Amino acid sequence: MPMTIPLTHRRMIVFRGGQKSKVEGQRKKNKHMKFSTKAIHAGQSPDPTTGATIVPIYQTSTFTQSGIGEHRGYEYSRSGNPTRKALEENLSALENGKYGLSFASGLAAEHAILAVLKPGDHVIAMQDMYGGTYRLFEKVFAPNGIRFTYVDAHPASFSDAVRPETRLVWIESPTNPLLQIVDIGSLVDICKSKNLLLVVDNTFATPFFQNPLDLGADLVVHSTTKYLGGHSDVIGGAVITNNEEWYEKIRFLQNAAGGVSSPFDCWLTLRGIKTLAIRMKQHEENAFAVARFLSTHKQVKEVIFPGLPEHPDYDLAKRQMSGFGGMLSFKIYGGFEEANRIMKKFRIYSLAESLGGVESLANYPAVMTHGSIPAEMRQKIGVTDDLIRLSVGIEDAEDLIADLEAALA
Ligand SMILES: *Cc1c(COP(=O)(O)O)cnc(C)c1O
Repeated sequence: MPMTIPLTHRRMIVFRGGQKSKVEGQRKKNKHMKFSTKAIHAGQSPDPTTGATIVPIYQTSTFTQSGIGEHRGYEYSRSGNPTRKALEENLSALENGKYGLSFASGLAAEHAILAVLKPGDHVIAMQDMYGGTYRLFEKVFAPNGIRFTYVDAHPASFSDAVRPETRLVWIESPTNPLLQIVDIGSLVDICKSKNLLLVVDNTFATPFFQNPLDLGADLVVHSTTKYLGGHSDVIGGAVITNNEEWYEKIRFLQNAAGGVSSPFDCWLTLRGIKTLAIRMKQHEENAFAVARFLSTHKQVKEVIFPGLPEHPDYDLAKRQMSGFGGMLSFKIYGGFEEANRIMKKFRIYSLAESLGGVESLANYPAVMTHGSIPAEMRQKIGVTDDLIRLSVGIEDAEDLIADLEAALA
């Protein structure tokens, strides 16, 4: 990269006769589109050189310059790539944010946010959280001097944990795997009054069912590996924000540390997102059917699905989200042995890590997704040995229920 060319000069060279104003115009246009239209079109105009309707996979590491520092907005694919740009614009449109950044994984996206902090800074996070996020906090950032406090889902627990050096509040809602709903609006109030940034991992809800930036959150994180990609064939992550200062910091780290998503992975994710709305509707419909079936089964101790009126956060979920998603957990009579027996009998559900694909997956959090959380803490928060988590896919609900019925028998 031509490091000797002043940034201001490089910025003056415009792409395709005025990319900047074009992007602004596009952003305004996106605002007036409804969800599926944005999912299919935002960030994706026909290719200017060939007219290709679908954004090509720009499988190139570098871009030829016509003179020193004269280029069309791209120099090197770590700092920017047209396929990634399309995905980043698409993701920001879906979350009603100004800025989107795409990463090689959800954890790479999380890493870039945390890397903005300095030793001594304090983060308040949740006890009930994706195990890999906990591992990143405790094994990577805590040894480097970032401090973490883990609290339950009550807003008061968050305000009690605030210290003078607190900078971030980090939540998931619904949580993984216990599907608790956190009152994002209340946390926004707490964060605003104490000058903290609120980060929401929106992986479970997806922008189709929940838009944390509209509720006042500062940063949204996604593992696009899950529902956004939607087909269990790509690993990716994203950060979306309206906060220009944090966007610039995270964008700097995206390039400086290099955890970017590849052009092919961006293309796969863009392709997946086009059907996000219809997939989410079907995931939810199937999850309802499975939840109702499990609720009546005598081998099942408890069903945890925020769409059931008996779920403790049902009212909050209804208020905060436009749907309940496709994830549910349930507790069985018995522990590891019984769970393992059920898992082995499944014919349609795959026993696998991950979630959010069109195919149904079953997970045993105590050993799989949450194995990196100490046993004592797992017990405390309720990730017990009788807990099974389902990512309900979009197969026919009758088949999904029959498979559960046979496995539980
Ligand atoms: C999977 C997941 C992550 C991590 O994302 P990767 O793409 O696997 O790195 C973070 N948060 C949640 C809620 C997840 O489910």
